Amino acid sequence: MIHPLGPGSTIGVLGGGQLGRMMAVTARQMGYRIVVLDPSARCPTGQVSDGVVVGALDDVDCAKHLAKQVDVITLDTEHVPADLLEELEKIVPVRPAASVLRTIQDRLVQKQFLDKIGIPIAKWAPADDIERALASVGRPAIVKVRRAGYDGKGQYRIDATTDAQAIVAKLRSEPAVVEEVVPFVREISVVLARGVDGAHRIYPIAENVHRKHILHTTRAPAPMRDAQRANAEAIAVQVADSLGHVGVMAVEMFELADDRLLVNEIAPRTHNSGHYTYGACATSQFEQHVRAICGLPLGDPRALTGAVMVNLIGDLWSPGGVPPPWQHVLALPEARLHLYGKDLAAPGRKMGHVVLLDDDTDRALVNADHLISALTART
Ligand code: AMP
Repeated sequence: MIHPLGPGSTIGVLGGGQLGRMMAVTARQMGYRIVVLDPSARCPTGQVSDGVVVGALDDVDCAKHLAKQVDVITLDTEHVPADLLEELEKIVPVRPAASVLRTIQDRLVQKQFLDKIGIPIAKWAPADDIERALASVGRPAIVKVRRAGYDGKGQYRIDATTDAQAIVAKLRSEPAVVEEVVPFVREISVVLARGVDGAHRIYPIAENVHRKHILHTTRAPAPMRDAQRANAEAIAVQVADSLGHVGVMAVEMFELADDRLLVNEIAPRTHNSGHYTYGACATSQFEQHVRAICGLPLGDPRALTGAVMVNLIGDLWSPGGVPPPWQHVLALPEARLHLYGKDLAAPGRKMGHVVLLDDDTDRALVNADHLISALTART
């Protein structure tokens, strides 16, 4: 028997980044209260929340203090220790569950899980014996730390002539995996929600372009044949069901020239490639996540328009921290500007994004590039 948590309930969020912030804005609009745990009281989510517990994400006492004030707990990041989540589950529902995080947050365990349920992934091997791993995976390859890596952090490419031992030295005994470099024709992601009752809602598939390992643009709906779309959706649903996930989830995939899809990564949360849903879809990924974790019926994921999302990275700010000229964004009637309220604009740091609402997504991609050029020129 599921007891839905209606408006007026309090949602606890572990981690105060931009995903928590956008969920908090939506949740408060729906009448929920939000309390967040983060090391900084001024974190992006804290700025729009009802309360902040200041503490590290691995601080069990702080996390328990949060748990006692809320009706359900969810996550802004998957890098919260699964053991801590298990402790919290004794106090309040945690969605997604500790067991989901245990499988996801270690790349090796995640790959073993995907192998076990028969989902195609890139050739991989544990990096413990690097020469043996390279012999089985081949070159070029990418070494990825097992834990806490994101946006290309903790990743090292090994080409034909790279000294593998030099990469081992860079790892400083951090456990890692080795993956073949996949010659993909494009990257896509399936963002879906799974409810407490196991129901799903799947968003239009996103086509993603990365620069320096960081998401640059998302176009949705991705131009795609029906059979391929059904294939991608089936993979994502199988992953979510096998995990028993509750909430929004993103499954990132490489598409190969022969149409094969290889899963690259699973994010058990709202996702950067789903930001376009906020403005373009009947129900945003953030509202959908609130609905899923609160045991409410899921909303309509249908796209009301095509869209392109482009990330605003810290490199666009001047070295002195002066922001780019926003008038170039605000002059576009189809543009929606999102800024995350981060104080420090470091290179490679995600500071915000723009969604261009346009049924002609080819045109919107060109306009997104023009926009970034104008913001870079700083005139
Ligand atoms: P990840 O942090 O694993 O999501 O990687 C970030 C980005 O790096 C991906 O979206 C790809 O653009 C690229 N990448 C990661 N792994 C591979 C791989 N095995 N082959 C080719 N490109 C990769």
